[in-house]
Order: sequence, then structure tokens, then C-alpha cells
Amino acid sequence: MAKAFVLMKTGGPDGLKMMNYPTPKAKPGAVVADVKLCGVCGTDTHIIYGRLPVPIPQLLGHEWFGSIRELGKGVKEDYTGKPLEEGDLIATCLGKCGKCWFCHNLPGRESLCQNLEVVGISPHKADEPPHFWGAFAEHVYIPEILPIFKFPKGLTEKEMVLIEPVAVATRAFKRAQSGGTDCAYAGEGVDPSQTVVIQGLGPIGQCHTVVNNVYGMNNIIGIDIVPSRLEQAKKMGAKDLINIKEYPTTDDRIEKVMELTNGIGADVVIEATGVPAAFTEALNLVRRGGTVVEMGHFTNTGETSVNPHVHFCNKEVNCFGDWGYSKFEYKTAIAVMVKAKKMGIPFGDICAEIHPLEDLPNQIIRQEKKLSPGKIAVRP
Ligand SMILES: [Zn+2]
Ligand SMILES: [Zn+2]
Repeated sequence: MAKAFVLMKTGGPDGLKMMNYPTPKAKPGAVVADVKLCGVCGTDTHIIYGRLPVPIPQLLGHEWFGSIRELGKGVKEDYTGKPLEEGDLIATCLGKCGKCWFCHNLPGRESLCQNLEVVGISPHKADEPPHFWGAFAEHVYIPEILPIFKFPKGLTEKEMVLIEPVAVATRAFKRAQSGGTDCAYAGEGVDPSQTVVIQGLGPIGQCHTVVNNVYGMNNIIGIDIVPSRLEQAKKMGAKDLINIKEYPTTDDRIEKVMELTNGIGADVVIEATGVPAAFTEALNLVRRGGTVVEMGHFTNTGETSVNPHVHFCNKEVNCFGDWGYSKFEYKTAIAVMVKAKKMGIPFGDICAEIHPLEDLPNQIIRQEKKLSPGKIAVRP
């Protein structure tokens, strides 16, 4: 038997119950892993408080890594062809059905699949055997549909547990730099002289800072109000910081970004705050022909107003939303993590705290109240 902290009903962490299920066995093509660490994500709190519907009971926990406990018959290598053995450290990216309209017509846009399979935000209910569909548990059951990625040697636990938010950031970077199309053109493409504004320096904003730094961006501007987050962003690669306390209005912040960009505006703005008005602000901070990435709203927090002429038509802004990443994105995320390590970026510090799995309900409350200085992870 093994433990799993299952969400039995939504409304708050009271709905979480520690369950005991039989230790899973790997069917042919599948893999069973022992969870090492699992990060607590804003998405988990949205689901637990009932702001994002999923099948219930649900075993949450998607920001995980672990070691291979059992390889099912026929599983020999990871998604990139690296040989797999028991004990290898791995993580899983999302799996797509391959059958729906989006899988057929937009094959590179896996996050749009209508039957998406993700560890920890699963179409399977927790009472469906083999139960271990999420990583707030001792094990994870990895069906054949999920791509496995093996970690190279040399990364720490606190670094590996960040693979999911780093993948979110690498995908956003790649899309932003292709200008919303498949090819770069004049004034776009990866160019270290560009200015990237990152609104919101929580764990996701910090990961965006690291990714932009690794890809060579010299002019990263971070915006937040929490001093420790601003300080951390500096270590992750931000060149300039805008403390909302010192620049309390949108106009103040626009003026500051204009000053830092010689009156042109930012080439790219990444919205990662979760405050609707920040999206309007992003459209004001971006230059004409620039790019805005909206990825701060993984739940419905309301509306904000935009001006079609001022913000879009006249500016010829590229603007897109981001709901995840592609099946192969962990390949990029691992490479970025290895490179960040070589560059001496202390990105493992984004994971600020590790607590025992038993303490999950308390940590959900702390996550909801934003009491941690960074990412919280739990250990089974
Ligand atoms: Zn997450
Ligand atoms: Zn599909």
C-alpha cells in the first residue's frame, strides 16, 4: 500500500484526504515512479478552492520529478531516445490523444488537445485503478501516452522540481520570439538587445527571467511589489527592477519603461501576475509591433478593458495566450536548466521550501495567502 493525498471535494484544503491505495504495477508500455518532490502550483490552489473544474476525486500534483521504480514491458528509452533504467531520475510532460480536431489540425499545439492527459490534472478519477494519476503521492503511474524525460546528472532536487514552470517559460519564450508565426522577420527573432518586461515575479515570473537570461536577453525588466522577489529576479538575470511601491500607478510604470527603452517601449512583455488590469498595462508597455504574452490567468479572475485602436490596430501588436506547452517542451526545459547551471544562475532558489507531503493542506493555505517567498514543494 502507498499514500496519496486526494482531493475528495472542492472548496478548500479540508477536501484533501490521505488515502492508501495498492502500490501500482507497471502494465506493458507504462512506468511506475517513486515521487521525489512535487511543487505546489497556483493551478493546484485554483482547483482545490473550486476555481478550475476537474474530475473529482482527483489526485493533484503535476510539478514533480521522481525515480523509476518499475519499467513496463517494452519501455526502453525516454522521449529523446536516452536509455532508461530503474532508478533513473525522470519527469513527464503532457500527453495528447492524437485523435481530436486539434491533434489532427494543429499538431504542434498539444496544450489544445481536447483529451489532454497530464500527471496531476488528470481525466482519470483517483478512485480509478491504479489510482496514482498525480504526484501528491508516494508513486506516479505513467501510462504509455505520457512522454518521459530523463534528467542528466548534476542537477539538484530543487532545480529538477522546477522543470514544469521552466517549460512554461521556454515555450512562451519561443513563441514570443517567433512573433506569433513560424518564422522570425526583421526586428524579431532572438536578439539579446531586445527589452523584455516581466510583470509579476512569483515562481513563474522568476522562471521567465531565468529562461530569458539563458537565451541571452540583456535587458530584462522585472516588475513586482515584494522586495525579496525583486532581489531574487536580479540574481536570476533581471537588469532593471520596477518596485510597484515606488511606481504605484500604471502611468508611473509606463513612464519608467519608456525611459529605459528610449521612448520606444518593450519588445516583449510577459504578463504573469494574475491581475486582469496587468494585461491592459502590458499592452501599454509594449512597443509598436512588439509582443505581449498573457500567461498570468489560469483561472477566471474577471475582465479588463482594452482599446482596439490604441492597443492593437495602431500598434500592430502580436498578442497571444499560453496554456501550457508541447509534448516535447521538457527537452528544451532540461537544456535551459543545464545551461543556467553552467552560467551560475542560482535558479534552484526559486524553490524556497520543502515540506512533508502530510503537511500539504497547510501549504495550500500558505500558497493561497502567498506566504512563501517562492515555490513550495512537498516530499512524500
Ligand atoms: Zn504548475
Ligand atoms: Zn487530442
